[in-house]
Amino acid sequence: MKRELIIAIDGPSGSGKSTLSRRLAAALDYTNIDTGAMYRSVGLAAHRAGIDTGDDRALNTLCAGLSIEFVRKDEEEQVWLNGEDVSEAIRTPEMSLMASRVSANAAVRKTMLGLQRALGERGGVILEGRDIGTVVFPRAEVKFFLKASARERGRRRCQELRDKGLDVSLEQTIEEVKQRDAADTNRLHAPLLQAEDAVVIDTTAMTIDQVLQQMIAVVAERRQRAGPVFTRKESGS
Ligand code: C5P
Repeated sequence: MKRELIIAIDGPSGSGKSTLSRRLAAALDYTNIDTGAMYRSVGLAAHRAGIDTGDDRALNTLCAGLSIEFVRKDEEEQVWLNGEDVSEAIRTPEMSLMASRVSANAAVRKTMLGLQRALGERGGVILEGRDIGTVVFPRAEVKFFLKASARERGRRRCQELRDKGLDVSLEQTIEEVKQRDAADTNRLHAPLLQAEDAVVIDTTAMTIDQVLQQMIAVVAERRQRAGPVFTRKESGS
């Protein structure tokens, strides 16, 4: 099967993944898949259904009946849950926490893994999350791991929420970011982990454009090395 590159971008919250995968996708004309939005959608669905995040059976049943889609509308990328645009509803601090909780569940991860592989296997795609380079596409041609200090990541997240009109405190946001990262790193299933062959970029003191240029250079070098189109199929996908 011929296909373009699969690019994995992993890292903790606030490391710049979302902004950079969007920008990189635009620069390469690739599809961008925000896997965090998928876990957030499951979290929102669980919250609405009043499901306890420790209830494996209920989460399993919930996942089986969910439809999560990425829809492009007027240059904007929307997330649809069962036919409803939930792009805004999934971005609250409460849904960050719900996403982190449901994402620790094995049945939820298995369902999302199947969806993510189906969305990405044809290549020409950037997937961003926590376990893309390690679990979802361990043979992705390009892997990035973005990181930044906890303080800077908390500051970015706080700014993002304030821009949306939410009244949040900086210190509390930093604390929440730290707690979520600890939960994502220490969980049993597909924890947040840097792939051995990932290109690591510390974005703490860098501008978005500086990081983007570095990423574009890495992709160009990989493309040149392997040719623009690959002929091997992702094994295990
Ligand atoms: O990236 P974002 O902050 O939107 O992700 C929300 C939550 O979804 C993360 O804290 C993490 O628990 C979970 N997640 C995950 N695996 C991914 C992407 C996100 O477990 N690939």
